[in-house]
Amino acid sequence: APALEVRGLTKRYGDRTAVDDLTFSCRPGTITGFLGPNGAGKSTTLRILTGLADADHGEALVSGRRYRTLRRPAREIGVMLDARALHGGRTGIETLRLAARTVGMPRGRAEEVLAMVGLEGAAKVRVGGYSYGMRQRLGIGTALIGDPDVLVLDEPANGLDPEGIRWMRRLLRSFADAGGTVLLSSHQLREVEATVDRLVVISRGRLVREGTLADLTAVT
Ligand code: ADP
Ligand code: ADP
Repeated sequence: APALEVRGLTKRYGDRTAVDDLTFSCRPGTITGFLGPNGAGKSTTLRILTGLADADHGEALVSGRRYRTLRRPAREIGVMLDARALHGGRTGIETLRLAARTVGMPRGRAEEVLAMVGLEGAAKVRVGGYSYGMRQRLGIGTALIGDPDVLVLDEPANGLDPEGIRWMRRLLRSFADAGGTVLLSSHQLREVEATVDRLVVISRGRLVREGTLADLTAVT
């Protein structure tokens, strides 16, 4: 069964249709890239999937259920929507300890995750002093804190240098190899092509193509 499922999803803002009858799904053990230009409707879709916005029509299901962020803090699903929104006044380790407490993980989980995202050296530095790439690492860390089955990441490669992108690829691959499901958005194929197993490509809120990179680049 798919771990993430979007069926006929539609969302309008006034007379602008941000997401238009969108259907796709993601299976356990796979990394799906959600690709489309800026304004295509990626963030809107991810916000509905993670319970931060409501759809006008259709469904977005996590493990077969509608996910409601506010009712049940994320444990089975790890989410990073905007690393720029991390509180600048907290240190890296404080950020992860707070995230751990929020989802009921032991305090030691923060140190563990800090090492996973390669920020041990910046544990006591305030996030306000982090580069965008460091914030992305920390944001991915907050998504991983509850040891989730599903990861939803909005533009995680943004701000990462090539080494950071290779690091992210290894991290997500081992997460997927352990049975996890990853959906990550990007507006640049180049950033994610080596990381993902499949692509869901959207434009103007609509599905354009779906399949493996080989499927999508095959000349037919
Ligand atoms: P992407 O993440 O692919 O860049 P978005 O989901 O952010 O795309 O946006 C899709 C479209 O919906 C854009 O035209 C955007 O301006 C519009 N939009 C997104 N959020 C809102 C909002 N809260 N109010 C009005 N329009 C919005
Ligand atoms: P992204 O492109 O990563 O989605 P944006 O900077 O476009 O980020 O959007 C940031 C916030 O502003 C989001 O909450 C989004 O829903 C909202 N937003 C985006 N476009 C519009 C818009 N045209 N009108 C009102 N709110 C918008």
